[in-house]
Amino acid sequence: MFVKLPWIDHSKCIRDLDCVCASGCKEGAFQAREESETEPGKAKDCPIIDLEKCKRCGDCEHACPEGAVKMI
Ligand code: SF4
Ligand code: SF4
Repeated sequence: MFVKLPWIDHSKCIRDLDCVCASGCKEGAFQAREESETEPGKAKDCPIIDLEKCKRCGDCEHACPEGAVKMI
């Protein structure tokens, strides 16, 4: 049986500093990046997902308003 993992589509992620996927992840696995030095108000890169901590719950897929997170 395959277990789906969260994946971030970098072409859709708009690098919110207050990423709701990160704030909503109960495991602390979905981690927003720090602010960009060249683009104030944006994170320097898309969030990262710690797959050691991730419980594959799928909450982040539902939370992202941009549809940038998919369980694949
Ligand atoms: S994953 Fe979604 S909510 Fe999080 S920074 Fe990217 S677009 Fe924003
Ligand atoms: S699938 Fe669940 S545990 Fe894993 S990063 Fe998304 S919200 Fe966090």
